[in-house]
Amino acid sequence: MNLDINRIRRDFPILEQQVYGKTLVYLDNGATTQKPNVVIDKICEMYRKYNANIHRGVHYLSEKSTQFYEESRQTVAHFINASSNKEIIFTKGTTDSVNLIAHAFGDRFLKKGDQVLVTALEHHANLVPWQMICQKTGAELKIIPINEKGEILQDKYRELLSDRCKILSLTHVSNSLGTIVPIKEMIAQAHAYHIPVLVDAAQSVQHIPVDVQELDCEFLAFSGHKIYGPTGIGVLYGKTEWLEKLPPYQGGGDMIDDVEYQKSTYAEIPLKFEAGTSNYVDAIALAEAIKYISNIGLKNIAAHEQEILRYATEQMLKIEGLKIIGTAAQKASAISFTLKNVHNLDAGMILDKMGIAVRTGHHCAQPLMKKLGITGTIRVSFAIYNTKDEVDVLISALQKLKQMFN
Ligand code: PLP
Repeated sequence: MNLDINRIRRDFPILEQQVYGKTLVYLDNGATTQKPNVVIDKICEMYRKYNANIHRGVHYLSEKSTQFYEESRQTVAHFINASSNKEIIFTKGTTDSVNLIAHAFGDRFLKKGDQVLVTALEHHANLVPWQMICQKTGAELKIIPINEKGEILQDKYRELLSDRCKILSLTHVSNSLGTIVPIKEMIAQAHAYHIPVLVDAAQSVQHIPVDVQELDCEFLAFSGHKIYGPTGIGVLYGKTEWLEKLPPYQGGGDMIDDVEYQKSTYAEIPLKFEAGTSNYVDAIALAEAIKYISNIGLKNIAAHEQEILRYATEQMLKIEGLKIIGTAAQKASAISFTLKNVHNLDAGMILDKMGIAVRTGHHCAQPLMKKLGITGTIRVSFAIYNTKDEVDVLISALQKLKQMFN
């Protein structure tokens, strides 16, 4: 199906504006995506018409917001094909979801001598929480290495699997290199050792259809703001049996069953993991974002973005002195690169003045950058609303940049 990208672009009011007198070319979608009108309108509608705290009140507004919130949980469950709404926990985002699992799992299941496995591609969000829990429990953090293209070394991965390894936590798509990790096969191999797997889907759910039952992962995390939804809301999926055996991460209102001064019993899942007033407005708006992209179709989105990725890669390779960092055979819509004689920060600032928003630096993946022997890259990352015309604007800006520095 050929998508009408110009029609889609009209759904995103921010894209119509000019910056420094130039039409905005927004290529920083890996950091956060822009929001369609349906999401912005839903937030306004919630505060204008339905705002009341959920799960507590018996009045009309509270019942309405509770209903919308629980319907949103259903929308998320359907989107990733969870087998039950109970398996969907609303969090603040991917970072919050990973911290929840690292701490709840670590407190219950990790001890000295155990191992936790992550890959060399991880964002700090899927690395630092595991470092913290390993330091606390005495478990050892093992890193699955990558090759020079940014692909996981599968034979090294298999060598690292053992009965000592208690959990594998890995990214689906690398935010800095764009590598798509073959998680389905890797999850099956981990399961052969009864190792549960957490998938960081922060950079995949907006680009690739994700089906948690097909993947058979125990946990999966993503952020609302990277999938055209609001900031401050995210999702943690967990298989029922696992969520039931993990202890709560935080205590407070809404997560309890019965409270006495000295002890408490806890609510059933998912509420056991949703202490305090949830960000219900943004959860409801996130459901709108999910309906929006589901209407377009994830397969159609993937096809469009792959075409933009292919075209941009081809054009960029024609620029002398431009080196693409991350050349995995399977990539999602991000290209990291360096330009000879140009510091990535200078490039980012000059491109900005030309109206082009890109990301520069270490992309919250400092160990990876150190491993690649660089301090950072320039990264362009595409979304459903990006066009080949925008790639052309980028390419001519990069040519100008090169001339300026040579
Ligand atoms: N994981 C990956 C792969 C990411 O790209 C990001 C953000 O860029 C995160 C985790 C953290 O997401 P958030 O800051 O929304 O919690």
